Amino acid sequence: MPRPCPAPPPGASSPRHGARPSPGHPPKSPPPRALAALIPIALVILFLALARFMASPPRLEAQGDRVAAASYPVWLFTRYLNHGRDFFRVELMTNPETGCPHEFNPRPRDLERLTQTKNLVENGLGLEVYLRRALRVAPPDIFIIDASQGVPTLLNNTGRVEVPGDPAQTSVTPNPHIFLSPKNASIMAANIAKGLSEKDPAGTEHYKDRLGRFQASMTTLEEEIRAFRVGHRGYKVVTSHGFMDYLAQEMGLAIIADIEPAPEVPPSPARLAGLAGIIRELGVSAILVEPHADLSQAKTLGSETRIPVAMVDPATSGSSDPPEDYYQQVIRSDIVMLAKLLPVNSAGK
Ligand SMILES: [Zn+2]
Repeated sequence: MPRPCPAPPPGASSPRHGARPSPGHPPKSPPPRALAALIPIALVILFLALARFMASPPRLEAQGDRVAAASYPVWLFTRYLNHGRDFFRVELMTNPETGCPHEFNPRPRDLERLTQTKNLVENGLGLEVYLRRALRVAPPDIFIIDASQGVPTLLNNTGRVEVPGDPAQTSVTPNPHIFLSPKNASIMAANIAKGLSEKDPAGTEHYKDRLGRFQASMTTLEEEIRAFRVGHRGYKVVTSHGFMDYLAQEMGLAIIADIEPAPEVPPSPARLAGLAGIIRELGVSAILVEPHADLSQAKTLGSETRIPVAMVDPATSGSSDPPEDYYQQVIRSDIVMLAKLLPVNSAGK
């Protein structure tokens, strides 16, 4: 910041701009002594201003308290932990209506935001495919919090049967949809709280307190899921893709096939026909899809096999300013919906 020029010391005189010399008095050629005395001071000020300009933080440093969240669920968790302290500016990298970001392509403004971000929270396990390329524009010392650290994972396609007419889908990679599980969400939030504390040590107690509240709410949801499991365990379902494997496992539901051969890859007619056969043969009770799935295929399959189609919200999208307990609300409404959809049975008792 340039400083204003200092006022001349009291009593010092200096020629004013435009002042004319008195008649009969020719202008003095050497500068007045007072002015000469100001020159070193002006040089010091100039030097300080220059030094400050040279040392002034670049734009990236000025945005150092920004945290970019690579997908909606980790954005929700990070917002929850930051709430009340607001040391960080938590920004979502994707459009809030994106859903699972398997095919998300960052817009120029998303990339621009990433170039100015020193901190990033990601779900991890390859969910945010776009990060592979997008991170090339990020600052080389960007601080990345991988929320998946320590989360017990399932492999993709766990429990799926082979669909006649379509090659078997095998995968040895972990299913990245870990966020749709209160048990996993507790671990993910703990990873995020640890990372935030590292970057904001003075806020450690705050993040610890918020994490405790979050985990308490997850424990309540886990109890509700256990209660659901008692009356509904053993149901077979088909899902649109592997978005709810972790929740299904905790609920005791068996996902035997997915409509899509891979996330956001439409099924062939042969696959749909094979799925219809499986649904009838194995006694599948429902088709569960996420809000962004192609409903027409699920409905066709459902009407052909006479089983219900229902929407399970994985909390991968929503408002750009959701309530702080939005994740908890979504999971609870999923549990309530599934309890209505699937009649109580005796399998879990
Ligand atoms: Zn997905």
